[in-house]
Amino acid sequence: MTEPFAAVDVIRTKRDGGRLSDAQIAWVVDAYTRGVVAEEQMAALAMAIFLRGMDVAEISRWTGAMIDSGERLSLKVSRPTVDKHSTGGVGDKITLPLAPLVAACGAAVPQLSGRGLGHTGGTLDKLESIPGWRASLSTDEIARQLEDVGAVVCAATTGLAPADKKLYALRDVTSTVESIPLIASSIMSKKIAEGAAGLVLDVKTGSGAFMKTLSQAQELARRLVDIGTAHGVATTALITDMNVPLGRAVGNAVEVAESVSVLQGGGPADVVELTLALAREMLALAGLSVDPAEVLASGRAYETWCRMIAAQGGDPEADLPKPSHVHVVKAPSSGVLASLDAYAVGVAAWRLGAGRARKEDPVQAAAGILCLAKPGEAVSAGDPLLELHTDTPDAVPFALAALEGGYSISDSAPAGSPIVLETIR
Ligand code: URA
Repeated sequence: MTEPFAAVDVIRTKRDGGRLSDAQIAWVVDAYTRGVVAEEQMAALAMAIFLRGMDVAEISRWTGAMIDSGERLSLKVSRPTVDKHSTGGVGDKITLPLAPLVAACGAAVPQLSGRGLGHTGGTLDKLESIPGWRASLSTDEIARQLEDVGAVVCAATTGLAPADKKLYALRDVTSTVESIPLIASSIMSKKIAEGAAGLVLDVKTGSGAFMKTLSQAQELARRLVDIGTAHGVATTALITDMNVPLGRAVGNAVEVAESVSVLQGGGPADVVELTLALAREMLALAGLSVDPAEVLASGRAYETWCRMIAAQGGDPEADLPKPSHVHVVKAPSSGVLASLDAYAVGVAAWRLGAGRARKEDPVQAAAGILCLAKPGEAVSAGDPLLELHTDTPDAVPFALAALEGGYSISDSAPAGSPIVLETIR
């Protein structure tokens, strides 16, 4: 087949700060998926995009080309479909209570999720700590479960945005992940191909997020909403705080247990608050005027959770894995916990075995951290602050090194920060 462009010309255009034409974008993404554009050429182009950026029209076209690299799920369900995506954080288990809650309110939630890489946890890794639970479903199984239960959390089918699968793995090893055009097109290509009519984005900002500053998060949120709208998906973004871990549990089984307590009417206040805030936005996009707080309190969301887990082979009543080793970090002095850094806790949990260093590594279901105190809470010298869970005790010194400087105790309570910082429509 004769190719209409040469990769070197496309790379040079972006390297020199030019804009890529629609035809160049469509070709380079397709040719990369076919293996005609080599990995090293795409690596150079990704770095040129990282350094030079892309305008709104280029990002939208790039997203379209990544969608066109694979199949689109056509989810024919009788309820309105709506999904949520988080840009990734520490202790971010919100999908677990949120998907069954929104389904119990009357929507269909097709939540195609990923695994953790680096210090951020992955929804599928967390759910796999439930005995028997299966992440891979066929398109038919997804559609059937959506109709019967209303919620499905599973791995993306292999045909969905294959260009992103290749490009994400390449970006990960070429230091080109934290680029707003590349993150925005990566997230939205998968979400648009998945076919939900509405989408709520949880754009995290702070030490434990990819976007460290509020202005970066605002720019990413704006781009995500623009792309969704341009592709006919009703899209809203919440910018939320990720300087402190969400809830008290960070890891796999520990996050499942915390999510179940939220679904049973308990759980940490910040997890409940963010779950309800995201649920309200999702229900608004789905055109359903139902109060999610009432549905959560009624126990119907917990019933939906049990059906959702059982539909994928899991036993919602089974005991979750326990670690073979627990190390307790104690408060060095008395006072108020002034800070607990999300990045430090995320890296420590990852080193304990909750996350993986390479895509193919296994994770430990029982590994993670329980934050027994959160900022603003009083502590006495010698009180347990953090519980480190692992099956590999050799990892504890490395986790402790990550936690060094990651928390502090002072005489007075720190000023609290709201969870939801901004809403972008
Ligand atoms: N999540 C994605 O799916 N892609 C990115 O590039 C970053 C976060």
